[in-house]
Amino acid sequence: MADIIPRGTPAWRATRNARVAFCVTAAFSAVATHWPRLALAAGDSPVDKLAHASNFAFLSVLLWRTRWVRRIPVLMALMAAWATLDEVTQAIPVLHRHADLDDWLADLAGIAVACAFVAAFRPMGHGLGALFARRRACALDGLLANGIAWFHLATAAALGAAAGAPLGVLADSWFQRKAPQPWQYGFIGAVLGAGVAAHALLESGIRWRMRRNFAVRPCLACGTPHAGTAQCAACGRVHGEIDWCDAVGLDGREEGRLCVKPVALGVAAVIVLNFAAIALLTSLRLHVDAVMRFDRWFAGLPTDARILADATGVALVGAWALAQCRRRIAGALDQGGARCLRCGFDLQATAPGEGGGRCPECGTGFVRVGDGARH
Ligand SMILES: [Zn+2]
Ligand SMILES: [Zn+2]
Repeated sequence: MADIIPRGTPAWRATRNARVAFCVTAAFSAVATHWPRLALAAGDSPVDKLAHASNFAFLSVLLWRTRWVRRIPVLMALMAAWATLDEVTQAIPVLHRHADLDDWLADLAGIAVACAFVAAFRPMGHGLGALFARRRACALDGLLANGIAWFHLATAAALGAAAGAPLGVLADSWFQRKAPQPWQYGFIGAVLGAGVAAHALLESGIRWRMRRNFAVRPCLACGTPHAGTAQCAACGRVHGEIDWCDAVGLDGREEGRLCVKPVALGVAAVIVLNFAAIALLTSLRLHVDAVMRFDRWFAGLPTDARILADATGVALVGAWALAQCRRRIAGALDQGGARCLRCGFDLQATAPGEGGGRCPECGTGFVRVGDGARH
């Protein structure tokens, strides 16, 4: 297990559950991609490339949760190596499968999107932002330590997929003027539906757990309930005075205001990149041989591969925008020790005391954490 997390603690159990889920999914995926003559990955299926990408995206996220890998570049390299091995071993003659460059690119697209979102969801900030991130991580561990929570998540994802698939087909039939692609958009609708449902359940679970944690005051490193001692009984971490103080965060309107700019930039980037790519292709196609060949190759790809290429671009921009939103919110939280997060009152002359102080203007609780004290 991870270096500092003692056996049996909530953080340990959450990691163990993630490892079990990862190994089961990895074994299932390896069998599915190597099963002799399986039709789904043989190139006939209309959602083959989308299935490849979502499979590897899901495996990447699970591998991150196992805590076997601590750095995102390592996660990317390992998953890319796995995807390569997965394709190369399909060339073994007895399996009657074949190694496919397009499949491999689809795997890499899924890995890239997953790693971008893992990076976007990483803890950010130094002061209050970092403290809130630790509380959240602690609540998530507490939730995922319970095996039943994983089944609830899987059930929510399955229901979300069942609801999302027909919506995807419906959206396709509305917007597509050309031949309809019910399979591909049904698949994308199912993936999005599963993601939205699982995320909604996870988010409500984290909030519920967080409220509970304010009473239990667990160790922020391993999740073991506070036994009234200065140090965690399980992992030895010294409990901070402010670990579970009632300092408030930003209100929803302020968070929304901080997200306007990254979201607008993200939408603009998708539109600009789209038109720039079309303009570049159409103007250079007749003059540059390589562009011509790329254009022919792309046009000759199966529909699901082209949809996957577009979806990957949109998802990467979306992950960037999400990371910017989170960074801005964490940055604003970090200012919480110097300026009241509710009324803006300058708190630099106010002594916070051991477990946090109160704004003299509006009475809102505040703390100074790490770097926050120096601002
Ligand atoms: Zn601990
Ligand atoms: Zn105030």
